Amino acid sequence: MDQKIFTREALVGWVAEQRLNGHKVGFTCGAFDILHAGHVDYLERSRRHCDRLIVAVNSDASVRAYKSALRPVNPENNRMLVVAALESVDAVILMPETHPAALMELLKPDVYIKGGDYKADQLESKALVESYGGQVLCIPVAFETSTSATLERAAAIQMHATPPELGSAGLARLAFLDRDGTLIRDIPFLHDPTRVELMPGVPAGLKRLQEVGFTLVIVSNQQGIGLGYYNESDFIEVNRELFRQLAPAGVRISRVYYCPHSYADECECRKPGSLLLENALKHYEAPARRCCFIGDSPTDCVAAERVGCPSVLISSGACPAPCTHNAASFQEAVTWILQNLN
Ligand SMILES: [Mg+2]
Repeated sequence: MDQKIFTREALVGWVAEQRLNGHKVGFTCGAFDILHAGHVDYLERSRRHCDRLIVAVNSDASVRAYKSALRPVNPENNRMLVVAALESVDAVILMPETHPAALMELLKPDVYIKGGDYKADQLESKALVESYGGQVLCIPVAFETSTSATLERAAAIQMHATPPELGSAGLARLAFLDRDGTLIRDIPFLHDPTRVELMPGVPAGLKRLQEVGFTLVIVSNQQGIGLGYYNESDFIEVNRELFRQLAPAGVRISRVYYCPHSYADECECRKPGSLLLENALKHYEAPARRCCFIGDSPTDCVAAERVGCPSVLISSGACPAPCTHNAASFQEAVTWILQNLN
């Protein structure tokens, strides 16, 4: 791949050589931070419009300047190496500028290719390219994917997979939270993110729990997975929507524990089984008596009692054993916890 990565000087010579050999030279640019199918497809289609394709990869500083201070994920040398490995790419060059005008003036490619739903007339570079007799080409993006979407999904998956490291054992306090009917409106076998609707008072209540030091953990039965009504991916998408709706309040769910089995599987993790709670207590090294559970079903409270954790049942009725307390709303549940368990 290294021989495809050029300095400016060397690339000028290479372009001249290609022209001498009668090749049509194309040029495109971008960050190519985390290479995905959309990039591969775009570069392949770009290559069909020329005989040699040059890709200018934005430098780290230029990505920071036009995208975000937190990007890129991968450093420029690595990004250039990955792009250079693609069959559709003939030459790679680092681009310290946010805009390719200077490079295009230097190289004068026959075709300037831009990805996205632009009209050639909208592009600033059109006049420059046409001034030396070049052509501007816009290739619409054919894949519903982007580096940002990939990163967002990776972050959500991380929430379901890796417990955070804790410095001091025994100090963590978990607020166990049932999901359906407690945090969001209960819709049987919910798997459509557009139907996620927070219960009243949930963002503010979670914020208060978080502020006094509770780590927020969801514990959810997802029998619909075991029954084949939806899959883990659907479940994660619903959770992502929940996280999105909680984000404006500054609420962060640390981890999602879920049982994907059906009733018939007779597993130990499905509430009122307590395996998920036991796992969470172990991972966070949290003492159960300093934690709390908020749920809307007596089975939530049974699971909590099995590990020795106080529980609040959100219900308008009486408080059936083994619930520690019952509250009419999420907000009331939080208020009781702060007054009695804090
Ligand atoms: Mg529930």
